[in-house]
Amino acid sequence: MKRVLILGSTGSIGVNALNVIRDLPDKFSVEGLTTNSKIELLEEQIKEFKPNFVSVKDESKAKELSKKLNGSIEILAGEEGILQAASRANYDILIGAMVGFSGLIPTIEAIKRGKRIALANKETLVVAGEIVTRLVAENNAEIIPVDSEHSAIYQCLVGENLKEVEKIILTASGGPFLNKDKSFFENATVDEALNHPNWKMGSKITIDSATMMNKGLEVIEAHWLFGLPAEKIEVVIHPQSIIHSMVQFVDGSIKAQLGLPDMKLPIQYALSFPERFENRFQRTDLPLINSFSFFEPDFDKFECLDLAYQVLKKGGNSPCILNAANEIAVEKFLRKEIKFSDISKLNRQALEKIEFNSNPNFEQIVEYDRKTRDYIKSLVL
Ligand code: MG
Repeated sequence: MKRVLILGSTGSIGVNALNVIRDLPDKFSVEGLTTNSKIELLEEQIKEFKPNFVSVKDESKAKELSKKLNGSIEILAGEEGILQAASRANYDILIGAMVGFSGLIPTIEAIKRGKRIALANKETLVVAGEIVTRLVAENNAEIIPVDSEHSAIYQCLVGENLKEVEKIILTASGGPFLNKDKSFFENATVDEALNHPNWKMGSKITIDSATMMNKGLEVIEAHWLFGLPAEKIEVVIHPQSIIHSMVQFVDGSIKAQLGLPDMKLPIQYALSFPERFENRFQRTDLPLINSFSFFEPDFDKFECLDLAYQVLKKGGNSPCILNAANEIAVEKFLRKEIKFSDISKLNRQALEKIEFNSNPNFEQIVEYDRKTRDYIKSLVL
């Protein structure tokens, strides 16, 4: 029986992780759950999964929940509460399902304790990939990707030698604006951008899919997970989202992993690896899908994807700057303060404005993140 701590249990990945755990009661138990502020859903999760403790980032919501539950469960609060949760020793697997940069510091706490990290929070590797991968090696921790593309690559690489990989091929749905002209981005609305054709996800990642920033972040994530340079990481548009990614080997052979666009499978794999567990998930009906198509992404139209390749090649603090700028730009777009086309503009502007540092330490990364956020927040368009 493995004990699981879920950071971000009320978000899309967190809820799906609990759906997986619900069906495997003899394999997994819930040690702890955390949320930013959704205490109603957290309360339901507490009743069903009976964790030993929970953490609520919003302190007034934490108090509200504590009053309601009247001492029946330990409730940690604030930013500190999430850190305390990750710093405890009594769990086996941490599911990192928080959104954005906020996932980085608690994930590092779990790595320092040599835990398995089922990582959905790609930003952790994007902003501090070098430091995180070094800590994983030093502490004998392991990162198993939950991101569907990286889970696919991970599965394709079982039994293979990384030295024999010629390239990895990340598939991308292309998002809701795949077939729109670049000029459409001027007036694309929040509702249009949130209307993803294949995946149901949180709002941040859904906007990132519409700009293809998500695929860009995944290119950087793949670099750190699999130790491959940018030249060996290719993006291919595959609108059906059935092939989750592929690996091409030095002999030209290509392996792919297929499945329905449902995060439960990569989540379960990250929990069960190296085993596979039976489940009742819906199966892929290939004749029903009928056809697969593939084509090259348009780097001019999806400038965020281009920026991601640029920062991966440049290295240093530039992925951190791009990520921080993008998080704030997406927030601004969701609040309807900027246009859809401004997201990539602000990202590019931040990379030009914030000074480059080729080898930042952890404290500097935190500082560049803050500095970039402040800069993008200060801009009035
Ligand atoms: Mg993905």
